[in-house]
Amino acid sequence: MKFTSALASALLLSVSFLQAQTDPGIMRLQEFAYPAKRKILNIPNVNGLQVLKCDFHMHTVFTDGHVWPNVRVQEAWREGLDAISYTEHMEYNPHSKDVKVDHNRSHDLAVELAKENNIVLVKGTEVTRKTPPGHFNALFIQDASTLVENNDSALDQEAIDKVAAQKAFIFWNHPGWKAATIEGSYEWIDFVEKMYQEKKLHGIEVVNGLGFHKKALDWALDRNLTVIGNTDIHNLIAHDYNIGQEGVHRTMTLIMSKDRSAAGIRDALEAGRTVAWSSKYLFGKEENVRNLMNACVSISAPYHEKTNKKAGSTTKYYEISNNSDLYFELELKSGNGTKRIVLYPESKQILTAEAGQSKLTYEVVSTFIRSDKHLMFDVKL
Ligand SMILES: [Zn+2]
Ligand SMILES: [Zn+2]
Repeated sequence: MKFTSALASALLLSVSFLQAQTDPGIMRLQEFAYPAKRKILNIPNVNGLQVLKCDFHMHTVFTDGHVWPNVRVQEAWREGLDAISYTEHMEYNPHSKDVKVDHNRSHDLAVELAKENNIVLVKGTEVTRKTPPGHFNALFIQDASTLVENNDSALDQEAIDKVAAQKAFIFWNHPGWKAATIEGSYEWIDFVEKMYQEKKLHGIEVVNGLGFHKKALDWALDRNLTVIGNTDIHNLIAHDYNIGQEGVHRTMTLIMSKDRSAAGIRDALEAGRTVAWSSKYLFGKEENVRNLMNACVSISAPYHEKTNKKAGSTTKYYEISNNSDLYFELELKSGNGTKRIVLYPESKQILTAEAGQSKLTYEVVSTFIRSDKHLMFDVKL
């Protein structure tokens, strides 16, 4: 008995001795840590094309942003984006006393992490001229250091010519920003018309951050320019967007691409196969918004019928499904059926329709196919 207890205390001693050796003296409190996970933004393929989630306008400490370049890749990974582009201001370097001016540096610092995180990194820059004409993003450039840094308006044309010479995809950023305060409104200006004529303008940023530049959408549609939506983020994404809340996403461009590559993205941008997505709204060419919605929304066969003998009519019951993380809000314009349908992400609704109709026509008020026009969508019965 005595022996056993002596053995036991010896064992206990050695166990606590071992514990003292292995216990680092830190207890990990993981409960409030963000779990390491990449969000899946679910959008089905559109006519065999992948829908890539892209943000082609952002800043870091290398111009007037507040974060180091790798943070942008971390954010994009977490939020489920496919492609991003660092678009530092060519002509505006407010941190130059603290950070060496190098317009290629943010991209170069992020290249390796982007590869490791499976994020497509498109090389870009923001050509930052005084307003007017304002700012232009140039994507798929090779070298930002050779561009025009001087903001003298006499050099506006030269600045555009330099990025055009690099065969960049160029879009006009936030046309209403500042211009609306200077002029009281914003207009399609001669400088931009000349760019357009010379085929040096390929798209317009119709949504910048949380702002929808309404006239800019019509300009893009009337001239067959690509519709683009970006964050133009300077802070952390989580500072400007309520990203922790379910269903919240940053402003982005949805690109219908044949593959998940920079070349595929460029092809789709040039062909104008884009829809801007911000808040619950979709913005774009009618055909693109329609194709996207067709891919996401489906209707079941009728599963129930109810006859109202007094009225002499029969009501049929259907399920309408939204198989995506997008949001659709529909208001009935013709036919007899459910007046208003809200299709929340990844959800179904009951739709009722009087028997004997081939379709109901809805106005999708969460879409803009012009500044004053929503998509009309037929639900085939
Ligand atoms: Zn800008
Ligand atoms: Zn910017």
